Amino acid sequence: MCLTFLGTGSGTPTRTRNTAATIYARPDRSEFWLFDCGEATQHQMLRHGINMNKVSRVFITHMHGDHTFGLPGFISSRAFRTPGDPLTIYGPPGIAEFVSVTLNTSASHIRYPLEVVELDHAGEVPLGRDDTVTVRYTTLDHGVQSYAYRITEADQPGELQVDKLIDHGVQPGPCYGQLKRGEDITLDNGTVLRSADFVGPPQSGPDIVLFGDTRFVPGHADFAAGADLMVHEATYGPEYPDKAQKYFHSTTTQAAELARQAGVKKLVLTHFSARYDTDEKLAELLAGAQAIFPHTVLAADGATIGL
Ligand SMILES: [Zn+2]
Ligand SMILES: [Zn+2]
Repeated sequence: MCLTFLGTGSGTPTRTRNTAATIYARPDRSEFWLFDCGEATQHQMLRHGINMNKVSRVFITHMHGDHTFGLPGFISSRAFRTPGDPLTIYGPPGIAEFVSVTLNTSASHIRYPLEVVELDHAGEVPLGRDDTVTVRYTTLDHGVQSYAYRITEADQPGELQVDKLIDHGVQPGPCYGQLKRGEDITLDNGTVLRSADFVGPPQSGPDIVLFGDTRFVPGHADFAAGADLMVHEATYGPEYPDKAQKYFHSTTTQAAELARQAGVKKLVLTHFSARYDTDEKLAELLAGAQAIFPHTVLAADGATIGL
């Protein structure tokens, strides 16, 4: 599982940062899910090797343009490339009208099944056929309806203890797969090998939380509690808590404090104001955040972070 950041700026694009978009990739990269779709997200996909055909779901955190204005272009271009592959878009109330008005008034013909699902205040996203992942969401504090999404992958089977099998005289073969799948096997000499004796404990699936734009609210730590990875907006540096409060955003140090309270394993900061435009300024932001939560990194356009 990995995240690729396609847009890490806030409000408007800059020469180095596009507006918000993040790709969540399944381990085999067979499917991509897109979180937010700022303007020119489709260009960023081309630039950073994301196959648009494989984007099957889009999750919008909120309706502000720096998170949505790339949707009509993405949806339309995808129609040229993937006649047939369905796309589902989830988002707050208003997302269905936004998609329908932009597509209808531009006479766009979408030749694949397109579904738009408006979410309520909080709950579980209805994913339908996909039972390997759950996505929960909650409402933040951004002046408009804004969500955080928490993606939890199902537990993975434990590791097969190959050395132990070889000690028992069992050479690699189809029986390894049977044991790994939880099936007991009987050897030619009649010995029964129990799967539970040769497979380690299940490994918990990765768990990541992506925040939409929001003010710092200590209660949000509950939603992110114990996550492997937390992605949080950091529009401002610590010198602007008043601006953050006034414009419904967070500072770098507030995000770090939330990560500390939530007990996550790693924090990725994103959605930086254009004023932080040099390596020196960014290093200062990072140092301030790491003083509160050491396992902090800054997102950059094109960067991939894996688990
Ligand atoms: Zn934003
Ligand atoms: Zn916003």
